[in-house]
Amino acid sequence: MSRECIEWGEETRQECAEYRDNGYNECSEYRDNGYNSCASWRSECCDWWPCSWLCEIVSWFCVAWYWVSNIVCVSWYWVSNVVCVAWTYITTAVCLVWEVIVTIVIFVVAVIEAIVGTIISFIDFIIEVILSIPIIGRLIREILSIIQEIIYRIIGLVDALAWALGIRPEKKLRMCVIIMRDERGLVADPAMVIEEVQAAADIFRSQANVRLIPCALANIKTPFHDDDSAGNEYIHEMDSASRDDLLDISCGAGAWWEDLWLEGSAYNMIMTRSCFCGNARRLLGYGSPVTVFVVRSIDGGNTTGCSLGPLTDYITVVGTETTDKTTIAHESGHACGLWHVGGTTNLMFGTDSNLRRDMSNFQAINFRNSRHVTYL
Ligand SMILES: [Zn+2]
Repeated sequence: MSRECIEWGEETRQECAEYRDNGYNECSEYRDNGYNSCASWRSECCDWWPCSWLCEIVSWFCVAWYWVSNIVCVSWYWVSNVVCVAWTYITTAVCLVWEVIVTIVIFVVAVIEAIVGTIISFIDFIIEVILSIPIIGRLIREILSIIQEIIYRIIGLVDALAWALGIRPEKKLRMCVIIMRDERGLVADPAMVIEEVQAAADIFRSQANVRLIPCALANIKTPFHDDDSAGNEYIHEMDSASRDDLLDISCGAGAWWEDLWLEGSAYNMIMTRSCFCGNARRLLGYGSPVTVFVVRSIDGGNTTGCSLGPLTDYITVVGTETTDKTTIAHESGHACGLWHVGGTTNLMFGTDSNLRRDMSNFQAINFRNSRHVTYL
């Protein structure tokens, strides 16, 4: 039950204790070195009585000074630890209260979404046809994405601040996976794709306390649900074979051009139909799902995944790539505003590897700040 709020507090309390114990050691070291220096100073004292008498007093003050310093030092670390621990209890409490409030609101939103969301999704169907018009419609869609991204990032600054202070309640990321089909059948085994979705769910949960959920209107998942297992509910299979240009696509500048041209147009229409549940949110931008197109090849087989970052609501991954399970997580990272960084174990390391799973604090904040990642 909402274990991340509690676990995070426990981890921080351990850090508080470590800080205190290291501090205690430093205090004793400082004191002992001090005593030694007092003693060595005294050993070099003169024998002549007024001098030796003065020497005696000074060395006594010397010892007293280090004795008192040690007490002040130890008290400082003791109080620091108490404050540190008290702070973790406050952050844990705020985190839990926030999640309880979110849970209540989630049910209200679910009802509204089931009614109003469906109506908006139908209206959006018409809007999406316009947004699917090559060049003009597609440019409007990209500009809309940028505007939405900026607005929700500004609102999300409150959450970023809370995270930095140690208040880290659960957020959600919606995902809808579409497996393309060629004349021979599906371009990927759904079971393999689910494994990749599961890897993404595990990484986002452990690194940013973000719960991955499938795109569905009545999918009510509160922070108090324990189950993070991915299954068929994420997967949408295309019924018929797609054109070659939708199966073998480009990355980089080529992908941008394709998004503006016929491929982006077709992807947008497929997304509107197959991930109907996300239409209202795509239009509003708030919590719009990341749609994963599983394709046959990217850049003629040179790339296993591609994302245009916050410009589009979809990413592409290659269906036959089965050894690296982190591609969906990595490309979703790009969609949520992350860029490549060094370090082979970082999720945003630029080379395919199953080792990719860490996110720095800054990356977690940036990721949670995306329009795709929301409380409701
Ligand atoms: Zn990348």
